[in-house]
Amino acid sequence: MLRIGLTGGIGSGKSTVARLLAERGALVVDADRIAREVLEPGTPGLAAVADEFGDGVLAPDGSLDRGALAAVVFSDETARRRLDALVHPLVRKRSAELVAAAPADAVVVNDVPLLVETGQAGSYDLVLVVDTDVETRVARLIERGLAEADARARIATQATDEQRRAVADVVIDNSGSLEQLTEQVDRFWAERIAPARD
Ligand code: ADP
Repeated sequence: MLRIGLTGGIGSGKSTVARLLAERGALVVDADRIAREVLEPGTPGLAAVADEFGDGVLAPDGSLDRGALAAVVFSDETARRRLDALVHPLVRKRSAELVAAAPADAVVVNDVPLLVETGQAGSYDLVLVVDTDVETRVARLIERGLAEADARARIATQATDEQRRAVADVVIDNSGSLEQLTEQVDRFWAERIAPARD
């Protein structure tokens, strides 16, 4: 099994790269998606979050009110740390279960937005960083429907491009077209993945 940690700033193109790698045969484990799954209605994760932050973070139907929770943790650093301390172990456990269920020769791609921030670079055979300059990311996030101020605020809470590049084994530059991105993913697969599998 080959374990790849995929990261990059918000809007850099991680999900797009993950999709391209999945098309080439990788098993993608998406930390953001798992973080939503572990807080679905009826889960111990959601019960723990409601215990910690009160029923105000629940919608009338008992599901998580993400807006209310975001409002609680956005301006309160200790609250955010308490939330992370609850959710991160659940995400890691679920990710580990998915990896354990994969075939022995699988190429597993962990899409981890905060890989650098949470110090997980050492957990992978190879760290793949999607690198896109901030202005291009902001423009793409606005196109995706995010307000510019929100995009910039989120970018400001994340690691810098330099910090991500410092832990990268391979950097994919996504400042260009989708076609250029696809070519780089093809080259990465041919040069780094195919030989490692053989
Ligand atoms: P991330 O997962 O890192 O937040 P996404 O893969 O969702 O980033 O990409 C952010 C947005 O930019 C998406 O709407 C995506 O379709 C778009 N996008 C990604 N790469 C390119 C590119 N090379 N050219 C134009 N748009 C792109």
